[in-house]
Amino acid sequence: MIDIAKIKETLPPSVRLIAVSKQVGADAIREAYGAGVRDFGENRVQEAIAKQEQLQDLSDITWHFIGHLQTNKAKLALERFDWIHSVDRLKLAQELNRLIERGSPSPSLLLQVKLAADPQKSGWMAEELLADLPELDRLEFLKIQGLMTILPLGLTPEDARSVFRQTRLLGDRIRTANFSRISMAQLSMGMSEDYPLAVTEGATMVRLGRILFGERSKSEQL
Ligand SMILES: *Cc1c(COP(=O)(O)O)cnc(C)c1O
Repeated sequence: MIDIAKIKETLPPSVRLIAVSKQVGADAIREAYGAGVRDFGENRVQEAIAKQEQLQDLSDITWHFIGHLQTNKAKLALERFDWIHSVDRLKLAQELNRLIERGSPSPSLLLQVKLAADPQKSGWMAEELLADLPELDRLEFLKIQGLMTILPLGLTPEDARSVFRQTRLLGDRIRTANFSRISMAQLSMGMSEDYPLAVTEGATMVRLGRILFGERSKSEQL
């Protein structure tokens, strides 16, 4: 494993390092934990549960769900994760609200946005999100804490930086609109390729996989 402590040192103390452990075994998670990491990100509910079962003794891990969440997995995700970064559509938000009202746990949530068009990725475009916010603000059981974004592949550093900045500005704009429940304190952006730029543009959480754990198998890059 690459030197996690060294990468942590390059981050400002205000930025939370989330180690993306998808396709990584419980042993490597344990090793990262030993290096001081307490936040782990997974993109498949079942895969995460299998690892959580093996790591029950590490009771202060914070688990982050970062993958596309199907409605039929929503209940399990609420039960198994402390954060869900990938709330990417109104229907899902409404379903989460309904489940929590009926007794499911209420993790912290982020709204996934895509400010650069990308057919491969889900998430709200800016105008769509602005249109849905009043309804999102009415979902009284949700703890919406901010925005998450994933950049399209192959942007130039200038373009990447611009998309990160636009994401921050969108968060600022929502914050000044004074919704009653929605908080915009968090910005989850930046992956192995681009996290220094994301940090410069105000990320509060970076999600790092390959730079910590090495390359994943080709067939499952995301
Ligand atoms: C896989 C993944 C990451 C980590 O990507 P790396 O390039 O390995 O750092 C971050 N965020 C999401 C949503 C991912 O699916």
